Amino acid sequence: MRIGRSATVSDTGRRRLHNEDAFVCQPPLFAIADGMGGAQAGEIASRLATNALEQHGGATGEDAVAHLVQAANASVYRHAAADPAAAGMGTTTTVLLVDAAAGTIAVGHVGDSRAYRIRGEQLEQLTRDHSLVQELVDSGRLTPDEAIGHPHRSVITRAVGTEPSVDVDTFTVELAVGDLYLLCSDGLTDMVGDDVILARALAAGREPEVVARALVDEANRAGGDDNITVIAFEIEAGEPPAAPEAPPVLAPDAPTAENAAAEQPTGQTAAAGRVRRHGAGAGGRAFALAAIVLALAAAALLIWWSLGR
Ligand code: CA
Repeated sequence: MRIGRSATVSDTGRRRLHNEDAFVCQPPLFAIADGMGGAQAGEIASRLATNALEQHGGATGEDAVAHLVQAANASVYRHAAADPAAAGMGTTTTVLLVDAAAGTIAVGHVGDSRAYRIRGEQLEQLTRDHSLVQELVDSGRLTPDEAIGHPHRSVITRAVGTEPSVDVDTFTVELAVGDLYLLCSDGLTDMVGDDVILARALAAGREPEVVARALVDEANRAGGDDNITVIAFEIEAGEPPAAPEAPPVLAPDAPTAENAAAEQPTGQTAAAGRVRRHGAGAGGRAFALAAIVLALAAAALLIWWSLGR
């Protein structure tokens, strides 16, 4: 299994002047952030969060996702603390980090942006909103139908960047070939019900770009009260991409390829060790070559200086 096509459509909607949604669509990482705060603070908060998430560096799993969301939180919180105009700003953050080799997605979630999965003919909401309305539904004081269009539906109970650290929901889901994953801001889900989301996605032939466009159009047709962002990606059959090779170690005392080979045990780990240490050996050679070039340059400079006197 591997990630197939992916696409994002982000739209200001029909009522707002600014788009406070930000996103990351960099397979294997997909994320959405819906900012809040006065003036331009919401835009700044969501972009600070996605900038932090873009530094994922190839790690996988729930711990990596939790770490990324905490880094996003720290970035937004620092900025808010330093700028009185940005005080109280925050953002939702929902992250999907795909590990195609393991056949899983690690999810990290804070706020009311949502992740959905379409598998077969079924739509499943993977995340649970951290919102006042969701709490009222959970406690039985509101029915799911009453929640739709509730005047306080945009009040969230958890946000990234409003406190020094944040409570992140993390969990793992299993991939299957043919899955279509959606990430969306509340500008979609406040305007378009789950049944319509599923119907439009199926009518769009599950093609990520067509699905994302169709859903944003649907939210705008329904009024476009808020910014609308939809990320869609598919899982297809095929070999997952190879993991990137570890960068060579450039320390001057790194073992040479010959020494490394001599101290290798036999078997599977020996092969893996040799791949890594081959890089270290190449780094050592590059280091030696650079030292020779520097020494020659210094000698030339010395000769030029002594001739000039
Ligand atoms: Ca929003």
